[in-house]
Amino acid sequence: MTLSSSGYRSYYSLQASSPKTTLSPQRNLLSSPPMASMLQPQIILLKEGTDTAQGKGQLISNINACTAVADAVRTTLGPRGMDKLVHDEKGNTTISNDGATIMNLLDIVHPGAKILADIARSQDSEVGDGTTTVVLLAAEFLKEAKPFVEDGVHPHNLIRSYRTASTMALKKIEELAVSIEGKSLEEKKQLLSKCAATTLSSKLIGGEKEFFASMVVDAVIAIGNDDRLNLIGIKKVPGGTMRDSFLVKGVAFKKTFSYAGFEQQPKKFLSPKILLLNIELELKSEKENAEIRLSDPLQYQSIVDAEWNIIYDKLDKCVKSGAKIVLSRLAIGDLATQYFADRDVFCAGRVAEEDLKRVAAATGAAVQTTVNNIIDEVLGSCEVFEERQVGNERFNIFSGCPSGQTATIVLRGGADQFIEEAERSLHDAIMIVRRALKNSTVVPGGGAIDMEISKYLRQHARTIAGKSQLFINAYAKALEVIPRQLCDNAGFDATDVLNKLRQKHASGEGPNYGVDINTGGIADSFANFVWEPAVVKINAINAATEAACLILSVDETVKNPKSESAQGEAAASAMAGRGGPAMRGRGGRGMRRR
Ligand code: ADP
Ligand code: MG
Repeated sequence: MTLSSSGYRSYYSLQASSPKTTLSPQRNLLSSPPMASMLQPQIILLKEGTDTAQGKGQLISNINACTAVADAVRTTLGPRGMDKLVHDEKGNTTISNDGATIMNLLDIVHPGAKILADIARSQDSEVGDGTTTVVLLAAEFLKEAKPFVEDGVHPHNLIRSYRTASTMALKKIEELAVSIEGKSLEEKKQLLSKCAATTLSSKLIGGEKEFFASMVVDAVIAIGNDDRLNLIGIKKVPGGTMRDSFLVKGVAFKKTFSYAGFEQQPKKFLSPKILLLNIELELKSEKENAEIRLSDPLQYQSIVDAEWNIIYDKLDKCVKSGAKIVLSRLAIGDLATQYFADRDVFCAGRVAEEDLKRVAAATGAAVQTTVNNIIDEVLGSCEVFEERQVGNERFNIFSGCPSGQTATIVLRGGADQFIEEAERSLHDAIMIVRRALKNSTVVPGGGAIDMEISKYLRQHARTIAGKSQLFINAYAKALEVIPRQLCDNAGFDATDVLNKLRQKHASGEGPNYGVDINTGGIADSFANFVWEPAVVKINAINAATEAACLILSVDETVKNPKSESAQGEAAASAMAGRGGPAMRGRGGRGMRRR
């Protein structure tokens, strides 16, 4: 996908290796005839033919670039949003509805517009949802600011008003947010699954949102207060339908590679002891690694025996520990597999590190690096262990784990791209539920909260004298982009719906009214359970305002030309991408400051 905007070419270049400011009298002597320029030496700053757009022009072009980027993700917002299919030069295709994922894949080159990709990413890691929202808001703030900039308003006036508006908006959200604290676990679960369902409703798996929402809530509640997100595993098994997906309150992972003898091992245990190792259980033949000189052929047998004794001793210790399940990070060879099979012990080698860690967390086992002195405390346990067929794969499943702090969602579905997107969607939902559980306040979605803040800011603007009234109004108008886009994406008449919403909110009787995605009218989002954690909106407004202010404060971008060393190029693009504000037009143009 390519994005084009008039902003691309509006930067001028600066020679990387040339002195920063060159007063070059010699050259003047050679090239310029008249006395006048000898008296006034010419200052050479930039390479010939550089584009010198800066100031207002530069700012407008940055705004245009941001709008172009937002246009790329605009249609993905909301339950009726469309998905994007992005494929890169390697031929990988990704279908996604997630703002952060798309922004990442777009590979934006415009340094100003890159800021939008950055805020989408930060929203993703901070709250996990609302990534499209944050990009749209930032672009809309800028779009509303554009006419003012064109009319010659100084960006700093805009920035100041935007910051005030954002502070007021955040305060208002906190006021309006409804707490779910103090409810019983059952009630809480219900509330949380509403939040998860709202997140999922805009995704590919939206059709099964209730099914997945309760699964996600169960998973998050299972891991309790633990902050480690990787305690929730998501395993993807192509095939079957979405509904075949299931939650294991414990750990599940794909059966690892196994040797002969494995088939004779039992595949189901009730309350087994579990031993986790980080050592190889293989017969080590030293003839490749060491040179042994023997004078008597009979001694050879003793060397071989020693090798076998070492491994048998290890295996014996494992079995004696009482463990019925032996997992190792490293290989478990054929000899060991057969040995365990003969003693009704299950084993699996080369278990992925994160799976092993999760088994440890779930069963209470500690990973051992030696088999000497295995005490009971380092063994884990669970209620049921079994190896089960899931689709085409065999899975090792540990359920009913004592610490209960892990959960694994096994995802099923058709195409690979589908499962990948399902995984991303579940990640969003998991993050949202965790956030809601922690902050435990929710706000009505569907554009309701945005309309309410917008109204509040408009009311406030009326009480202010001076230009900032206009700017705060512009900010308030920009917030309406969320409900408007929700309507546009669903094919509703946005003007009509927005008028109804404005009227409802202005009259003060429907602060929770938002877009009704099913009928094309307006409805009480709270009553319809379209809920979002307040933190999503708070973070989105905060980040979008900051990004907009950042872009408004840049009036110049410096980029070193390609012809120079690659290092200079990288440094320049880094500077142009992030350090924009550091270059804010103080003093001479094109001077490199470090
Ligand atoms: P983001 O990446 O910003 O989370 P989404 O595509 O997930 O974008 O869309 C989120 C928006 O969709 C939110 O503003 C939310 O309020 C709205 N939304 C979600 N479900 C519904 C619904 N059932 N009815 C109306 N609006 C909804
Ligand atoms: Mg979302």
